[in-house]
Amino acid sequence: MSTIDHWINGQTTPPASGEYLDRMSPADGSPLPTVAAGSRADVVAAVDAADAAAIGWREQKPIERGRLLMRLADAVNREIEALSKLESTDTGKPAWQAPLEIAGAAGYLEFYGGLVNAIQGSTIDLGPEYHCYTRREPYGVIGIVTPWNAPLNQAARAAAPALAAGNVVVLKPSEFTPSTSTRLAELADEVGFPPGVLNVVNGTGLDAGAEIVRHPKVRKVAFTGSVRAGREIGHIAADRIIPLTLELGGKSANIVFDDADLDRVIPGSLNAFTFNAGQVCSAGTRMLVHRSIHDQVVERLVGACDELRQSGRLGPLSTPAQYHKVQDYFRIAADEGATAATGGRPDDIRGGWFVEPTVFTAVDNSMRIAREEIFGPVLVVIPFDTDEQALSIANDSDYGLVSGLWTRDLSRALRFADQLDSGQVYVNAWLAAAIETPFGGNKNSGYGREKGLEALSHYTHTKTVVVEL
Ligand code: NAD
Repeated sequence: MSTIDHWINGQTTPPASGEYLDRMSPADGSPLPTVAAGSRADVVAAVDAADAAAIGWREQKPIERGRLLMRLADAVNREIEALSKLESTDTGKPAWQAPLEIAGAAGYLEFYGGLVNAIQGSTIDLGPEYHCYTRREPYGVIGIVTPWNAPLNQAARAAAPALAAGNVVVLKPSEFTPSTSTRLAELADEVGFPPGVLNVVNGTGLDAGAEIVRHPKVRKVAFTGSVRAGREIGHIAADRIIPLTLELGGKSANIVFDDADLDRVIPGSLNAFTFNAGQVCSAGTRMLVHRSIHDQVVERLVGACDELRQSGRLGPLSTPAQYHKVQDYFRIAADEGATAATGGRPDDIRGGWFVEPTVFTAVDNSMRIAREEIFGPVLVVIPFDTDEQALSIANDSDYGLVSGLWTRDLSRALRFADQLDSGQVYVNAWLAAAIETPFGGNKNSGYGREKGLEALSHYTHTKTVVVEL
């Protein structure tokens, strides 16, 4: 069986330790190609290569960097079928879904490739005796650590603005899903990126990820994943005094008012908690429903879950750890007195790590299943009586990534959009964010923003130049 190595300085590079990690298919448990077990020595090699490439990359005309990013976008689009297959194999994603995410990855490269000249400074009038201006400058080496739920998409989301802004990158994908990120770096080389500009070090979080954050030449880190790992990385970054973008989890409130159009609410809310088998940081997993329509909404959701189960469109969970974590929450839900209106038990009929779409009722917002991120296709439903109550329950969370609301009342929608404590608010929609829209969280969901024009400002810092005339 083949192996997946690192990609360092424009070359496939075996691990210095000679060790590889075993991997398994989420869909049927069969072995997948092993992946390089990266360690400090590999990180040092990758950061040195990036550092050596940094000056040449940042001094290239921005338009040339932009052209290369566009070429990489084209290469990803040309290879969309092969990349989608790799992504589905690693993650268990259904075949219909992976191409959407790969196209999204190409979209980031294209979007930021086109924006290189949007990075501009300003002039500041200090009177006739001075000329004062600001420059937006790249940091240098950026460390990017990504999870397993949308591997290439999340890698491109961070790497594209970082590279566009003139930084060089050392990327560590999840040890469970290394294939597409490693291929992206190879493709970058094929379309003409100078060696060392985009490197991939594979391996575990502790042996490779933390070493990247610790390396003295890494000047900024972008992390997507769990609160636990985000906090650990945050400690290292604080000691080193380097900036960090943290894109962590969520327990996002999806509020359904009594005037909502249920024909839109049901499919939208189903998608909100079952897309990617619920393994999405911005999943809508905490539904708050006006008591007068609670039973009707639950009944229709249960029907929609049945249809989804029969459709075969729901993939398995991506890792055995995630599967067991969801099973643990099924036990916790029973202990806490919640009722499974549908699902709530393993669905191992097809082998692999499948779980049924699950809706829990009789839930109180203080229960663990209402407060903790489960990261599976699991929804909790909580009734409310007044708008004030809905707002208070929605904001009573350690997380603050997304909130959603369904109503025909525009004033109420805009009032709630102001008052909800989250980085994103969706009205009569879910998963409505796009490449162009800034994305990130409040509270335990993290800080900094990815996507949109705003991400470029997170991958540059301002220099002020004052000239006495
Ligand atoms: P994780 O945070 O452990 O892993 C994410 C990435 O960080 C991986 O590349 C991993 O190797 C690396 N990593 C882990 N610990 C690290 C450390 N101390 N220093 C540096 N890098 C480190 O996530 P997981 O264990 O794969 O998943 C656990 C939970 O995280 C999930 O149940 C889910 O709640 C959450 N999660 C959230 C997202 C998201 O998009 N926000 C994505 C994946 C997982």
